[in-house]
Amino acid sequence: KKPVIAIDGYSSTGKSSISKIIAEKLGIVHLDTGALYRGITWFALQNCVDDNGNIDLQELFKSFHIIKLEFKKVEDELVLYLNHINVSKEIRTAEVSNNVSLIAKQKEVRDFLLETQRSIARNGGVIMDGRDIGTVVLPDADFKFFLTASIDERTKRRYNELLAMGIESDEAEVKENLIARDKIDSEREIAPLKQAEDAILIDNTKMTKSQTIDAILLQITK
Ligand code: C5P
Repeated sequence: KKPVIAIDGYSSTGKSSISKIIAEKLGIVHLDTGALYRGITWFALQNCVDDNGNIDLQELFKSFHIIKLEFKKVEDELVLYLNHINVSKEIRTAEVSNNVSLIAKQKEVRDFLLETQRSIARNGGVIMDGRDIGTVVLPDADFKFFLTASIDERTKRRYNELLAMGIESDEAEVKENLIARDKIDSEREIAPLKQAEDAILIDNTKMTKSQTIDAILLQITK
């Protein structure tokens, strides 16, 4: 039977890109759960903003029934579609990054996305990355990992990742956003970002991406 793997950790520790490669190697599905929270945030910024330009949460909660989030395979990659529109680039903008943790701390939002995530793991053969996968979404996962790295290393990675997507950013702003998100994500009441008791901790500050992948695969195949 193919494994169910949970990867959690701080922002920009490489969770998604590492999970994607492991999924390819093991022939399993990869789900980047952060994209779902980003998708909801993008929707809210487009459709649920009050006169002062702030997100109107009640308006968002009332709109859940018209939000359709799907992952579709495009050139071997799962990309996020929101109401049939490919939003994979939009969800990486600074505007979304600056608002996503405030959206993700809402119970209504987490409840709305929980079943979508669990249903994907029901048939096994999945690697899911996020903040609460090992603790809440898939507590019975076969393998759990928790990734961390220094804030400066993570800032560098996120900056380069954005650049590779053609998005120009400011390093100081990127750092500030990572710190702010990690703080909100760790301190929230529902499903806070934390290492599951049975998760294996990997600090990859001084590790390359492929070293992190090898460390994970070693545990899975041993
Ligand atoms: O993984 P990524 O950095 O794209 O996630 C964006 C945000 O989505 C996180 O900062 C967090 O607020 C939220 N998130 C979450 N639970 C998850 C995945 C992401 O709360 N499982």
